[in-house]
Amino acid sequence: MAQTRRDFIKKTAALSAASLVGMQLPVDVNTMARAAEDEAWHRGTCRLCGVGCRVELGVKNGVPFALRGVADARTNYGYLCMKGMHFWKCMGHKDRLTKPLYRERKADPFKEISWDKALDIAAERFSSAVKAHGGNAVAYYGSGQCLTEETYLFQKIMRGGLKTNNVEGNPRLCMASAVGGYMTSFGADEPIGGYADLEKAHCFFIIGSNTAEAHPVLFRRIMRRKLDNPEVKVINADPRVSQTSRIADKHLQFKPGTDLSLLNAMAKVIIDEKLHDQQFLGNYAVFKQGKEAKAASFDEFAQFVAPYTPEAAAKTCGGTITADDIRQVARWFATSKGTVSLWCMGINQRKQGVWANNLIHNLHILTGQLMKEGADSLSLTGQPNACGGVREAGGLCHILPGHRPVEKEKMRNQVEEAWGIPLGRIPAEPGLHTMDLFTAVNKGTVKAVWINCTSPAQSLPNCDLYNKGLASDDCFIVCTDIFKTRTTEYANLILPTAFHFEKTGVYGCTERRSQLTRKAIKAPGEAKPEVWIAREWAKRLATKLNDPVIAQCVKPFDGLEEDFALPQAIWDEYTQKLTKGRDNDLRGASYAVLGRMADGVQWPAPTEEFALKGGTVKKFVKGLDPMADSESKNDLPYQFYGPAHEDRKLWIWLRPQAEPSEVPDADYPFYLSTGRIIDHWHTMSMTGRIPELLRANPYAYVEINPKDAAKLGIKPGDMVEVRSRRGVNLLPAKVYEGPIEGMVFVYWHDQEQTRMINKVTKDDYDPASKEPEFKICAVQIQRVSGPRPLTPFLV
Ligand code: SF4
Repeated sequence: MAQTRRDFIKKTAALSAASLVGMQLPVDVNTMARAAEDEAWHRGTCRLCGVGCRVELGVKNGVPFALRGVADARTNYGYLCMKGMHFWKCMGHKDRLTKPLYRERKADPFKEISWDKALDIAAERFSSAVKAHGGNAVAYYGSGQCLTEETYLFQKIMRGGLKTNNVEGNPRLCMASAVGGYMTSFGADEPIGGYADLEKAHCFFIIGSNTAEAHPVLFRRIMRRKLDNPEVKVINADPRVSQTSRIADKHLQFKPGTDLSLLNAMAKVIIDEKLHDQQFLGNYAVFKQGKEAKAASFDEFAQFVAPYTPEAAAKTCGGTITADDIRQVARWFATSKGTVSLWCMGINQRKQGVWANNLIHNLHILTGQLMKEGADSLSLTGQPNACGGVREAGGLCHILPGHRPVEKEKMRNQVEEAWGIPLGRIPAEPGLHTMDLFTAVNKGTVKAVWINCTSPAQSLPNCDLYNKGLASDDCFIVCTDIFKTRTTEYANLILPTAFHFEKTGVYGCTERRSQLTRKAIKAPGEAKPEVWIAREWAKRLATKLNDPVIAQCVKPFDGLEEDFALPQAIWDEYTQKLTKGRDNDLRGASYAVLGRMADGVQWPAPTEEFALKGGTVKKFVKGLDPMADSESKNDLPYQFYGPAHEDRKLWIWLRPQAEPSEVPDADYPFYLSTGRIIDHWHTMSMTGRIPELLRANPYAYVEINPKDAAKLGIKPGDMVEVRSRRGVNLLPAKVYEGPIEGMVFVYWHDQEQTRMINKVTKDDYDPASKEPEFKICAVQIQRVSGPRPLTPFLV
């Protein structure tokens, strides 16, 4: 490719600027040197966060050599973040698991065994647990990282085959509160709009989300919108000043756990100043209160928020918030031509996670900041397929495929009919949610668990408590993964799996978008796709339990080769039989269609013709959403056909401020919050193995406000003990104005035992969503020594 010196200087300058914000420019800049080579580029999706950036993997002679963004993809327009551009280096990594490993007892060393033997053992241990104790003695614990086909097939085998709803996944730990919020406010899970609103928004309300580091490519889009249009307002509400705060017109820094007061106070300002949209409310909304969702009136809502004056809320929230700040942000929110709210774990990982979600939705419903371009209440997803595989295809203990609640007999029967198994086969009771599942492992009542592509030994809150159960020989543990993790240390059987681009399947991202990634390279050693593993395991279970219904669960997939035909058949069964007539209708998103799209399809997409146009950009809007047209009941332009609200209305909830389950006291005087940094992803099993990313952030540290550090005699780099009632960490101090006074912050990626912050975090959970309150607990802080040399650690 010819280029002038001037072009080169321009591109180099752009590249330096981009790297500062953790971005990779579209690849025509980065991969110029390779353009002329004989190579193939395979289109797929990023393996990491829930943004769902579209990528192309460069492969030469069967070996991957680079990854680039897809310029015409509406998720990322060619951009990638630093970890996204590097994830391909996991392929072919020397640490990859390549053979099945087994040990009978957990104190024994692992031995390599054949696949045949491994699957026999897994089937034997699960079937003997079922024979002796029934279906609820076994469980599947999956992941928002699994492909939809994998989650769907495993949950089918567990529910239809082993007669248990003990099907859970790590999205319980990150987005169950968002599901609860959408279901109770809108009557339907998942956002109404999507990323297209970011370029149309005039106000961004970012709360409980460090978007700049957790969802960098979306942050880039927000930042670009703000830079191009300085009048666009950005509000950032967070107890910590983060990388996201630097583009904020107003950063609201408050005491952790007081944001329900802030949100109610914003609602009060909106009502007092008559900034609510009376017509929108009259047409589309009702007010609700209490557990029974009792009807309330507008006046009752106004009375409910009356005590949340800006002055009272500013006092409750503490920090640097003033009453005038609250008035100002409420006005910006209500009066902008389009407001998008974005939130993530700071809202979801909370004892009142569902309520906090409701209160954000309240503001949108009150002001009519929904449905129109540039307005949305957009919860950000933490994993590449938590939406999609887990939320939509039945990956949680209370949800069947197609957003069907387990407890509804009609819904269970629809699934049983689709599978051709006897009615009544799926149990009526939801299974064990994540925290109850690992409590049951501790108690010894769950005898065998299949853990797929996730590491609860590190990611559960108060993890040491639950690791006791995982370590016990009373529970047989299978781990399917690509690398060893803290959890494989507790396994009896480790099964090596194919990685992204080594198998075929679909991911669904934050904005209801499903995208296909096809196999492009061979998996190393004997690593296999999970759909093959699940099918072969189920066939053995059927024999050992002498149960033809288990065999029936995998019969439609028998004999299909695993690289394409098998996942395609699973996807077809899920979409054609189980999303028909559901709000996530995906029948038009066939592999053939997905394979033609630069960036997949947003549901609902009931026909291929509609899917080929990209699907539904905005749910519930007639003319944009085919289900809003087909389900229309009146002349109004918006039709809220969500399955959970028979009245077809949006619900505004009366939800009071409520304390976190643990707040600082004389013994544990500091708040602890945890979160992510840009270079790493989750338990670091992948990003920790990529030298560029490990060098950038080799180990966790504790951020301490300079005023607190001065009081405690802590200097930068000193070793500091962070101790809660549950556990202790020893971390180097980063003295930094990020956390509010009285609060410390630690990132949760580090695998090293003395730096694993989930030993310290709390395992209380939201009673509605069952999502634990990772984000707030009370700790002591104590200087232990001056700086010490530290080394990064990986299992
Ligand atoms: S923003 Fe997320 S999806 Fe996009 S490249 Fe980065 S990690 Fe991947």
